[in-house]
Amino acid sequence: MDGNEEHGNSFGIEVILLEDAQTAPCCSHGPTLLFEKVCKGREKGRRFYACSACRDRKDCNFFQWEDEKVSEARLLAREAENQSKRPPFTHQEYWNRFQKFASLPLDEKLFCQDCQILLLPGEHSVHSAHRSTLITAAQLKRPSVLLRPLDNKKSNAQYLFTERSAHFLLDTLAGLGYKKMLCVGTPRLQELIKLRNLEQKHQPMKSLLLDIDFRYAQFYSQDEFCHYNMFNHHFFGGESSSAILKAFLRDSDKEKVVMVADPPFGGLVKPLANSFSRISQAWKKLQSSDSSKADMPMIWIFPYYFEPRILACLPSFSMLDYQVDYDNHPLYKHGKMGRKQSPVRLFTNLSPSDIILPKEEGYRFCPLCERYVASLNKHCAKCNLCPSKDGREWNHCSACGKCVKPSWKHCQSCGHCALPDHPCTSSQVKEGCFNCGSPQHKRKACSVKYTDSYWAKASGGEKKGSHPSLLRSKTKRKSGAARRAKLLAAKSL
Ligand code: SAH
Ligand code: ZN
Ligand code: ZN
Ligand code: ZN
Ligand code: ZN
Repeated sequence: MDGNEEHGNSFGIEVILLEDAQTAPCCSHGPTLLFEKVCKGREKGRRFYACSACRDRKDCNFFQWEDEKVSEARLLAREAENQSKRPPFTHQEYWNRFQKFASLPLDEKLFCQDCQILLLPGEHSVHSAHRSTLITAAQLKRPSVLLRPLDNKKSNAQYLFTERSAHFLLDTLAGLGYKKMLCVGTPRLQELIKLRNLEQKHQPMKSLLLDIDFRYAQFYSQDEFCHYNMFNHHFFGGESSSAILKAFLRDSDKEKVVMVADPPFGGLVKPLANSFSRISQAWKKLQSSDSSKADMPMIWIFPYYFEPRILACLPSFSMLDYQVDYDNHPLYKHGKMGRKQSPVRLFTNLSPSDIILPKEEGYRFCPLCERYVASLNKHCAKCNLCPSKDGREWNHCSACGKCVKPSWKHCQSCGHCALPDHPCTSSQVKEGCFNCGSPQHKRKACSVKYTDSYWAKASGGEKKGSHPSLLRSKTKRKSGAARRAKLLAAKSL
């Protein structure tokens, strides 16, 4: 596995996964992760703990050197800070409120948009200066529509599935006989399952939502929602909450269970893979002996350019061509003309041939690859696979011995295919790496998997996975020189 992958920078920040995460200090998001700054050719960098969930200091500024002595006073202050960030109500309280709310007359069902909370009659006056709206019984069943999507670009942007993608996932998995769905960061999927059960036209499906957005605790009982951090497998509700997951995973012999996770895209692959593996292990322990060798069926939704990293962590997974799209992400729309195609794909340990991609959208079965592929993803006889990752038709380059993006041309001086206007090796000699700004190497040798053009466009050029403690603020793509200066400055931190 590429050591420099996580939080990729020229010097690289690696996540060190601890055997016993309980030894890590906690921020309000649970146990922090241990990071290490790795510099090529130099001795190991100093290790530090930082928040598992937030990439932006503004959201969580926890920082502690691994070998740092923390004073009693600071520990107390930290504990107080963590306490203050707890949700205002316990889950049981939220659930009691919900039941009261549901029984209110129509003209008293108020939702405060500013506080994002369902109001009980006695609370109306306190929120009278806020924007609030009356909500219907139907709206109460669609929290993912009612709640304002979190739009924090760096830590927790919520991108909700289009009807098309949500129905595809649900229909496909129901069709494969799954009766239970573990929804990790997929509130809209859980919502759709519950709505469908009400229709009584289909076999009922059970679902459990694990999400860090505790606003959902207002709408779901303890058996339907756990306040959870998928970067450190932390249950905010403690033992009793993790017991809910276990109970859900149990007796899944009769009722097959599948997990569908859609983490924030800036997320760290290694810790996510670790959490999903822990869920799978918990599932395994609860199976009868004959099925104990199998892995828990899972779908992890993530952009295609993470493929190498995900497969390095979870070798039994494969990437499917299906393009997942989102309602509130204008750039991630499914193959419409004039729009960027969505870079988001399904990674799964289910058999690819079982996941039938919709014919109406041009997907077809490739008998040689034994999977469904995008319409323009033509099988290459030389590579013996359908090579396209981005949905466009790729071309085989005989010099490179592989298929490459249609926009790439073989470059004699670089010795491989690249964009026609790429900075050639020869002209880059004096300037160092054009990708990351390091003067020590060329772009060709760069370990930073730089942003794909999709990503660059979608997020305003924001670089994936930069760590707050090293690169603090940066939203627009800087000029090459400015970027280099910034990175060199960060290096000397
Ligand atoms: N497409 C999904 C939503 C994906 S957005 C749907 O339509 O249902 C990412 C989701 O992950 C959000 O619901 C967000 O609240 C949740 N999330 C973000 N960070 C998380 C974390 N650290 N742990 C658990 N859930 C997280
Ligand atoms: Zn934190
Ligand atoms: Zn080829
Ligand atoms: Zn080539
Ligand atoms: Zn580089």
